[in-house]
Amino acid sequence: MIYLNGNFMPMEEARIPVLDRGFIFGDGVYEVIPVYSRHPFRLEEHLSRLQHSLDGIRLDNPHSAGEWEERIRRLVELNEPEDQSVYLQITRGVAKRDHAFPKGIEPTVFMMSNPLVTPSRETLEKGVATISTADNRWLRCDIKATSLLPNVLLRQMAVDAGAAETILLRDGFLTEGAASNIFAVKNGILLAPPKDNLMLPGITYDVVIELAQSIGLPCEVRQVSENELFSASELLLTSSTKEVTPITSLDGKPVGNGKPGPVFEKLHAAYQTFKHSVMRRA
Ligand code: PMP
Repeated sequence: MIYLNGNFMPMEEARIPVLDRGFIFGDGVYEVIPVYSRHPFRLEEHLSRLQHSLDGIRLDNPHSAGEWEERIRRLVELNEPEDQSVYLQITRGVAKRDHAFPKGIEPTVFMMSNPLVTPSRETLEKGVATISTADNRWLRCDIKATSLLPNVLLRQMAVDAGAAETILLRDGFLTEGAASNIFAVKNGILLAPPKDNLMLPGITYDVVIELAQSIGLPCEVRQVSENELFSASELLLTSSTKEVTPITSLDGKPVGNGKPGPVFEKLHAAYQTFKHSVMRRA
């Protein structure tokens, strides 16, 4: 079951006019919210990032936080299994094709839910391969925009190279992955690029930094140079669905000793404990 403009319906029955600006221009924003045991994780933070994205494209939020929560919970109830990944997107709506904002139209609001697939035991034990390349995206990567063509092309580069993710560098510094945030470990310190216009402010990124602080793991939020990226003892990838995933190779060379390292093990354990404690309280 999906949600479209106020109604819940089977996916097959959902219809969007071809002049929707999401289809024509990619003129919209989205969110992906992980749901554990039917409880949306960090919902407030996802909704506030959604507001930031809407502000970034100058589109009014069609719903209050309470209305979003009610609709998301209903969608989760209507779907299986217990752990889901809720995708929501808002586009500027349907209008005759013209770049400038149309007046007096309603936005299109769409939500769907898929089973949440988190990293397998094998992935957590072996880690994933990555490649690196220049970040050729625009300068508003903090907006979670549906126009993802650069990210699509960048991620496909990884797939073509038999890797799981493409790590992006801009002007000699790490930004993020094509669809994830990236952390490096150097001299036992967790290094995180600062949240600015060059990366998406990940909800998982924030959780990981909070967890590092709570377990006494040294962490620095600052620019991470190309050199630090390539000489890191560990690299980690984070996202709402990938949670905390160890990266064990970069451009065909092992990261550290080529195995998931101690910082990953600590953060992964902390993440799982935290997730379950939040769900129990919910
Ligand atoms: N950066 C990009 C470009 C992303 O697409 C994502 C989400 N897939 C992330 C970072 C991670 O964000 P979050 O932890 O909120 O899922």
